[in-house]
Amino acid sequence: MAEMILGIDLGTTNSAVGVVDSGFPILLANEDGRRITPSAVWIGKDGCIEVGEKALRRRAIEPDRVVTSIKRLMGRRMSELEGDFPVPITTGNTETPRVLGKTPEEISAEILREMKRIAEWRMGKEIQKAVITVPAYFHDAQRAATKRAGELAGLEVVRIINEPTAAALAYGLDKLTDKSRVAVYDLGGGTFDLSILEMQDGVFQVLATHGDTRLGGDDLDGLILDWVMERAGISEVDRATRVRLLAEAERVKLALSTDEAATFRVPFYDGSRSLEETISREDLEKLAAPWIGKTLRLCRQALADAALKQDDLNAVIIVGGSTRIPAVRRAVAELFGREPDISQHPDEAIALGATIQGGVLSGALRQMILLDVTPLSLGIETFGGLMNVLIPRNSTIPCKAGEMFTNAADGQAAMCVRVLQGEREMAKDNWELGKFDVAFSPSPKGQTRVGVQFKIDENGILEALARDVATGVDTIIEIGSAAVDVDDAAVETMVSESVEHAFTDMAERVFTEAKMKAEELLPAVEIVLSQGLVKDTEREEIESAVLAVKFALAGGAANPLKAAVQRLDHATEALAARLVEQAMDAALDRQLGS
Ligand code: AMP
Repeated sequence: MAEMILGIDLGTTNSAVGVVDSGFPILLANEDGRRITPSAVWIGKDGCIEVGEKALRRRAIEPDRVVTSIKRLMGRRMSELEGDFPVPITTGNTETPRVLGKTPEEISAEILREMKRIAEWRMGKEIQKAVITVPAYFHDAQRAATKRAGELAGLEVVRIINEPTAAALAYGLDKLTDKSRVAVYDLGGGTFDLSILEMQDGVFQVLATHGDTRLGGDDLDGLILDWVMERAGISEVDRATRVRLLAEAERVKLALSTDEAATFRVPFYDGSRSLEETISREDLEKLAAPWIGKTLRLCRQALADAALKQDDLNAVIIVGGSTRIPAVRRAVAELFGREPDISQHPDEAIALGATIQGGVLSGALRQMILLDVTPLSLGIETFGGLMNVLIPRNSTIPCKAGEMFTNAADGQAAMCVRVLQGEREMAKDNWELGKFDVAFSPSPKGQTRVGVQFKIDENGILEALARDVATGVDTIIEIGSAAVDVDDAAVETMVSESVEHAFTDMAERVFTEAKMKAEELLPAVEIVLSQGLVKDTEREEIESAVLAVKFALAGGAANPLKAAVQRLDHATEALAARLVEQAMDAALDRQLGS
């Protein structure tokens, strides 16, 4: 019999696990009879660990020892963290954040270990392999950290798949017909994704994906609490109290998905005073409107990326606990012009999809291939500090791409390959995933040839290779292993910044390219001018074009420089042709004379 492969949804708020048993994908319930386990980890002073509901129960007594939302810290560096975190974050002498002395990977590993335990207990046997889901927007470091967390939990992670792809799989089993296009709107506790998938010949392809790794139901709990505190005239509470109050805010939020009003009530929250405020669904919807608006903007961006209109979609799927909020469902229906499909359990669809994928990989289910896309562009830095994209954003993975580069200066003996991820035109504005030097024997400018190739495997892990064409020697780095060195800000910031800076970025690129051309042209033209090879009829225009280029260079504006360089290029066109002709004649004369 085929080896079982677990399907695990490692969520910010909740996690779930399933397997294919007797040909059916099923989710497995924990001892409480629930198929959903809170992604909460209690770490006792003596190092004891409890996971799930048991951990949450300890929150009332020891709020500072219960870690939730650890997924927000996965694969991130200290310097990138922003916003509140329920438990204090510390760091040793590394850039990796730690919570209660443990890394995010170690804490996530505890949740995965619990998932493994539940599955083994239910199935009555050991299970080693797993498929784990991540938000489509997780970048390389976050995917690699998730994989390592699985390994720490004693699992062989056979595949990391995107959450929306998993969700579509769960819906897709019986629903999708060929050529269907589906939008997957996933709003959970801590992340938001919108992906557009196409199913063709039994294959799912992700056409586009947009998201925000810091947008979810947790934010709404915070907004409710701030609203309540403002009304009650409380400006601040300590961290432990805030954790308790947030739990009440969440309870109120859940109630308002079915009821028209609910009361936020915490007696003696600071030992003496009590909090009691009634909040209506209308109040909540006012608070939530900008928050929902953010998700809608990302939806529009994904549609634009896929070059699709709302009418081109055959279905809209919603997943994630926060899609139970009626205002969210209404907004999604309005934006896409159709009612979202709610036939699957919003909390279970992702785990179910991961389970189906596990079943496909183990051979327990019929073959179905999944294709994912790169959430951000990947490239290297080239002359002038420009970003040279090798694999554009939203490319289907696994994939490979390469390009040939040459040395920028005479006698150069090494080239530094900086692997970049991001959407900005200038290398400095993108994130450096890693860098390495390629040494070669010194040669004149433009003579050394180095081929750079990027390969992304089916888990979204990148390998960069540089080959010195002359010697055939390869230098390779695997970016996955350099995960904590990733110098990234939030993915969503990157995308919105690239839109925000589109015009200035483009101007900088145009200026840099024109400047490089000018720096090549000017010395050559000056030599020719000084050698008297220029006809008098040409001289005036060339000299004035040279002056215009120098003037534009000093001015620093992109389009005038581009125009000036074009003018100089044009003014020297006939001269350049003549020089080539003369050189050829001279060579011919030499040949005939010899
Ligand atoms: P997930 O990350 O998909 O498990 O979603 C968890 C998020 O969904 C949390 O922020 C929950 O508060 C939220 N959630 C779950 N059920 C509901 C509900 N009935 N109404 C509003 N939010 C909900």
